[in-house]
Amino acid sequence: MITVLLSSVVLSSLKCWMADAEASNSDYSHQTMTSKQDFSVYITATKLSDQEKLNALEKRWKPQKPDDYPSSMHTKSGVQRRRSLNSGHMQCYPWIAVSRSGDKAGAWCAVCVLFAVSDVHNGQRMGKLVTRPLTDFSDLAGKNGALYIHERSGCHVSNVARALEFTKRAKDPTSHADVQLISHRKQQVLQNKQALVSIVETVKFTAIQNIALRGHRDDGRIEPDGCYPPDNDGNFRMLLRFRINSGDTALQKHLRHASGNALYTSKSTQNELLQISADMVRENILQRIQGRSQPKTNGGARALGGEAQG
Ligand SMILES: [Zn+2]
Repeated sequence: MITVLLSSVVLSSLKCWMADAEASNSDYSHQTMTSKQDFSVYITATKLSDQEKLNALEKRWKPQKPDDYPSSMHTKSGVQRRRSLNSGHMQCYPWIAVSRSGDKAGAWCAVCVLFAVSDVHNGQRMGKLVTRPLTDFSDLAGKNGALYIHERSGCHVSNVARALEFTKRAKDPTSHADVQLISHRKQQVLQNKQALVSIVETVKFTAIQNIALRGHRDDGRIEPDGCYPPDNDGNFRMLLRFRINSGDTALQKHLRHASGNALYTSKSTQNELLQISADMVRENILQRIQGRSQPKTNGGARALGGEAQG
């Protein structure tokens, strides 16, 4: 049931997309075919650029007059009849591509030609419309018709999904899932660093003022609304609330959204920050003694930047 639903949604999307693409290209309907534009160029190419693939999907040549459509002769009840592709088929099945070149002459599926990852799908070797042209036009759109059956095949539905994803990415590179993931990741790292500055400054403040960090029952998440708890849970946590109530939105956002193992408010993180601070003070004193003093500022946040990225 889900497969049928998916197929229906994908096929519907493809028809809308290809119809839109054709409508947006007003010069397209006046094109005449040259050897360069014949679809056989895309069939035989070993590698296509993204732009060439887009052209093949959206700007390929299509028959304009009756003689342009491929046809085949059939005998029925002793009478020879010509059966042909027509404009109705092209509208109903917007993935049809037509070649008029040599042994490639006939009808093809542009989507499968461009996006099939293998000649075999689910153990079945793909044939007409994909690896060879459709040249028998006696039954196209009926329930046993070549076009009808191909459009509902698993390989075609899979390739339509690939084509839609490709087109979306080619027209808007920022829509690519990998790009979005990297962008989200960078934003997350930046937010973590901003929150860490608040936490490091709080620890630094308690160290300079010689104030104890810890209190009773100081485990668990700190509520991001900045409300003070009924029980005293220590200076560190109260100072973080004080920062939130003073407008530290980066810290508030961090406490609201960060996962439990990346809050940087635990006892172990406090101890780690103190240890880093102590190491920095010791290093600074040593450098001064050795006459190579280069005071450092805000090193704690930098030192924990790697943790934020993890
Ligand atoms: Zn196909």
